[in-house]
Amino acid sequence: MVDFTKIAGDTPRHAGLRRRMVEGIRKKGITDERVLEAMNNVPRHLFGFESAFLERAYEDNAFPIGEGQTISQPFTVAYQTQLLCVQSGHKVLEIGTGSGYQAAILYELGARVYTIERIRSLYLKVKERLLRLGYTNIRCFFGDGFEGLPAYAPFDRILITAAAPSVPDKLLRQLRRGGILVAPVGKGSLQMMRRYTYVSESEIKEEAFDTFRFVPMLPGKKG
Ligand code: SAH
Repeated sequence: MVDFTKIAGDTPRHAGLRRRMVEGIRKKGITDERVLEAMNNVPRHLFGFESAFLERAYEDNAFPIGEGQTISQPFTVAYQTQLLCVQSGHKVLEIGTGSGYQAAILYELGARVYTIERIRSLYLKVKERLLRLGYTNIRCFFGDGFEGLPAYAPFDRILITAAAPSVPDKLLRQLRRGGILVAPVGKGSLQMMRRYTYVSESEIKEEAFDTFRFVPMLPGKKG
């Protein structure tokens, strides 16, 4: 775990706001104490907020991080993370690094985190940010998440944090047997949160949960 008491820019006031945010998320139905604790540990205000929104970093909202992209709403991060059932030591692939906040939450749960971003400027910023915050073991990649990371497969868990038109078959094939992929899936403005469990080569268990609104998962790299 990263020791945030040593991070410049985090203060007792932020810690208080964070606790309030976490209690709000708990009231909205998140029950996994490990997820709530991870959210209590990560200083969200240090993850790429534009100055106009910095004061609002602990509201339960998505906010712009540049390039038309957003840092996900805390409730959404908690919801996806809870569905993913991450255990310590799991090898986890995230598609859509964005601000790096979700990657930090996965890291706090003890995961070995690999994360891919398709926009070069965001990738460069997040790589520097995670190092500065002490997340030296999160491995950032600039690339197209539709391809996954075949060289590092198989993964115990895969998390897509952008709206996928349908579940990418290439990613399902990078799961270990028993592995889980969570993704918001849908072509319209709302997506259904779905969970896929790779039971065996001939069986993928599929479950559907609530609807969410994500920025789209787009093919190819930018920049
Ligand atoms: N997990 C992020 C959420 C970022 S929003 C966070 O915690 O802040 C979704 C991100 O997915 C955007 O940065 C977007 O550029 C990226 N993205 C969209 N399509 C992608 C793809 N095919 N491969 C990799 N990243 C993608």
